Amino acid sequence: MRSNYKTALQNPVFNVLSKAATALGLETYVIGGFVRDHLLNRGTAKDIDIVTVGSGIALAKKVAEILPGKPKVSVFKTYGTAMLKTGGIELEFVGARKESYSENSRNPSVENGTLQDDQNRRDFTINALAISLNDETFGDLLDPFGGVEDLQNKIIRTPLDPSITYSDDPLRMLRAIRFASQLDFTIEKKSLEAISKNADRIKIVSKERIVDEINKILMSPVPSKGFALLHKTKLLPYIFPELVALQGIEEKEGQRHKDNFWHTLEVVDNISETTDNLWLRWAALLHDIGKAPTKRFDKKIGWTFHAHEFVGAKMVYKLFKRLKMPLNDKMKFVQKMVLMSSRPIVLASDVTDSAVRRLVFDAGDYVEDLMTLCEADITTKNPKKFRKYHNNFQKVREKIVEVEERDRVRNFQPPVSGEEIMETFNLKPSREIGTIKDAIKEAILEGEIPNEYEAAKEFMLKKGSELGLTPVT
Ligand code: ATP
Repeated sequence: MRSNYKTALQNPVFNVLSKAATALGLETYVIGGFVRDHLLNRGTAKDIDIVTVGSGIALAKKVAEILPGKPKVSVFKTYGTAMLKTGGIELEFVGARKESYSENSRNPSVENGTLQDDQNRRDFTINALAISLNDETFGDLLDPFGGVEDLQNKIIRTPLDPSITYSDDPLRMLRAIRFASQLDFTIEKKSLEAISKNADRIKIVSKERIVDEINKILMSPVPSKGFALLHKTKLLPYIFPELVALQGIEEKEGQRHKDNFWHTLEVVDNISETTDNLWLRWAALLHDIGKAPTKRFDKKIGWTFHAHEFVGAKMVYKLFKRLKMPLNDKMKFVQKMVLMSSRPIVLASDVTDSAVRRLVFDAGDYVEDLMTLCEADITTKNPKKFRKYHNNFQKVREKIVEVEERDRVRNFQPPVSGEEIMETFNLKPSREIGTIKDAIKEAILEGEIPNEYEAAKEFMLKKGSELGLTPVT
């Protein structure tokens, strides 16, 4: 039976595509993610991949000619592809092709082929589905590998021999895991084995492409699903050796510590229930990485991870650098979260005003993010403790609001400026100015004086006289 999916083609752009295809006499199909997502009811895709048996570039130019406003066509000659944007949609055009791979590159040599050849080169059966845009068969689905059935059964499967598919282009291993995580699908056993077998081939994939996929795994509803698969297939050591090092439980003198790898994954899942901020999810993933290098056993206190937050924050920089991620404010945010990740926990048992003021002062605008991270960090299976810790953090949150309203220490600006200190005591730029400024800041954070000009000025005069300075005015 022919299945028809005209309903997928309601956007008028498909009629334009069809017209252009007829005008050029080119067999043309919509293929890949658009078809998959339509069948999964995953909303309407913004990227639409068009394959034509002939020149994708010629088709793109024809489409642009017919479209109102005649959008610009970007041509990528080396790849034989073209792209144009219309009505918020990106149309990608490619001529149907056959691919052959060499050992050291994931860029194949290509030759013109049929639609079937083009479907063969696709990574997964669910990504090889095509819908005809040709006049007589408009809307017909072409599903040579049982992709629809795989969508129904939630299976990731390759059209051809998985071992060859993954070895040819090892990025597909990460794509398989990413789709499994994003869509909550299962990777077929043969495929999973082929990924494990080819894991070391990931070395030929660029860091940027790896990070793209990791970001998508992190943004999936339950990211631990993807990370557990990376672990199971032995891809994880090539990407995150720091996380692998967290795995395992050691016991000494009857004392055990928790498995910080699986704990980390729980924290990532927890935080993903409350935030879509990719960088906060990264912070959750990396918040404990300093624990492996700092782990010690102390006969009196048991297992310790002294200064792991500090070591971890440094490791964040190295990890971002290694993965060729931008070393920008996002990286600094992750570092800050890792560095401060234990601060609210220490606070929770004794919520004093001055400690909360210091927390808000140090975390600045990121104090809510930090609280979100710390709440996600609660993975105890003891319901009593779970409630207690959450209640404690609730108290910290309330105190933050209270202290903030009263003391305004977020993005702290000293109420008395360095210039005023210089003028008051007729000082040239010198160490004393810093000492006085610091003393004022400390007095405010400790709650000795309010965060107000008059009080700060009075305190400055007192501090100055302690240092043997006399005001000139
Ligand atoms: P998403 O938009 O969620 O990333 P997608 O499937 O649309 O999903 P693209 O990267 O845009 O992802 O790829 C478009 C199509 O190209 C895929 O559906 C698939 O058919 C094919 N494809 C992409 N990457 C590969 C690859 N590495 N190997 C084989 N086919 C691929």
